[in-house]
Amino acid sequence: MFLCQNLEHEGSSIIAFCLSADCQEPKSQFSFNCLINPQKHQNCRIDCKPFDKIDTLLDLILYKLDKMLEQTDQKFELLKLEYEKTIKIIQQEQQRFYEIIKNLKEQKYQEFLDNIGKIKNWNTIMKSTQFEKELLISG
Ligand SMILES: [Zn+2]
Ligand SMILES: [Zn+2]
Repeated sequence: MFLCQNLEHEGSSIIAFCLSADCQEPKSQFSFNCLINPQKHQNCRIDCKPFDKIDTLLDLILYKLDKMLEQTDQKFELLKLEYEKTIKIIQQEQQRFYEIIKNLKEQKYQEFLDNIGKIKNWNTIMKSTQFEKELLISG
C-alpha cells in the first residue's frame, strides 16, 4: 500500500497527489494529515488533486492528445496536397521541355521560338545556382 512518508504522519494513506510543477515538497503524494497542514503545498493547493480529479485531468489530456493527432493529420493532408500540386507543376514543365527538345531536333524553329520566353527564364535560374552552373560548364 502507498502511504504518507511525512514523519509526523507516516503510515496515513494517500488521498491525493500534488500536480504542481513548482511544488516545493519533496514528495508529490500526500495524506489527509498533509492536507490540513497549512505549511504544506502552500502555493499549490489548487494543484493538489484527489484521485477522481486526477482521473478527469487524465481524460482531458487524452482528449487533447487526440485533438493534436487530428490536427497533425489535417496538416499532413494539406502538405500532401501542396506536394502533389508541386509534383504536377514540375512534371508539366518537364513535359514541355521534352517537346521543346523535340522541336529543336526536328528543326521546328517557329515552335521553338514560341517557347523562347520559358527557356530564357530557365537560363536565368540555371545561372543563379552553383550546382547547375557546374553542370553547365562541365557539360
Ligand atoms: Zn501526510
Ligand atoms: Zn504541492
